[in-house]
Amino acid sequence: MSKAFLLAVLLLFSGESFSKEIALTFDDAPVSASEHFESIKRTEELIRKLRLLKVPEAMVFANPCKDEKTSVSHLKKYVEAGHLIGNHTCSHPRLDDVGFNEYSKDAEKADQLLSPLFIGQKFFRFPFLNESKDEKLRDQIRAWLKTNGYRNGMVSVDNDDYIVSWAINKAKETGKKIDYKKVEKIFLNHLLGAVEFYDDLAVKQLGYSPKHVILLHEVDATVMFIDSLVKELRQRGWKIISAKEAFEDRLYLEQPKNTYANNGIIAQIAMEKTGEKIAYNHFDELKAELVKALGL
Ligand SMILES: [Zn+2]
Repeated sequence: MSKAFLLAVLLLFSGESFSKEIALTFDDAPVSASEHFESIKRTEELIRKLRLLKVPEAMVFANPCKDEKTSVSHLKKYVEAGHLIGNHTCSHPRLDDVGFNEYSKDAEKADQLLSPLFIGQKFFRFPFLNESKDEKLRDQIRAWLKTNGYRNGMVSVDNDDYIVSWAINKAKETGKKIDYKKVEKIFLNHLLGAVEFYDDLAVKQLGYSPKHVILLHEVDATVMFIDSLVKELRQRGWKIISAKEAFEDRLYLEQPKNTYANNGIIAQIAMEKTGEKIAYNHFDELKAELVKALGL
């Protein structure tokens, strides 16, 4: 047997650990108008960029109660462009703050509004990734998802992309000069760091590199820099896959017993195995960098 053949066989059977595949998900759509975008223009810009980048079906986790009259027609643009819509509740409550009754009512309202936009398996993403710190409530909501035909739209790569948008809007509002190239670098550094952190953690804790699902938001900076992010990921050997394909990974069927309820499924599994919080915790550092770069 030749060495090359042996290597090919080895690669074939250990394919999972060389995965480096990632799907994009965008939360909180439709995001309201800001200093940088009108709401619909931001959505159109994101769709245009995803098309140019040839990104396969992303999943957009929507909050249709933000504007009940226009949200659904607005979100329909994603479906027409071949992307998928998921339920992110109607008005973005935090489960641990409002409890089961109010929360499930809110989620049901989103289910009704979004139902014309759903295609195939329905996915639900917990606002703040909060699946409850209370075991009883957590199990109640897991049962609700099951009864209502939902799978948990988990994330594997948590991060703080939204804070970059907060910073550029604050800068614009207060008349600061914005060096977008500088901000883009900070954004990329944070996001790519998160991808690598959670992939390493998965290899350590799960023994393989899963098909990843990155949490992003339909916010200004993320839309402005999405092309650089996708290009940089590809340059580093990542393949962008559809959200549907990513969610087929067995990782997203896990139901951890702990109530860590934050930072995504890999961090939750790491907690299950080690009893420790192991998460990509760079919020303060990122905020400080932005404040400095923008003179806030
Ligand atoms: Zn959200």
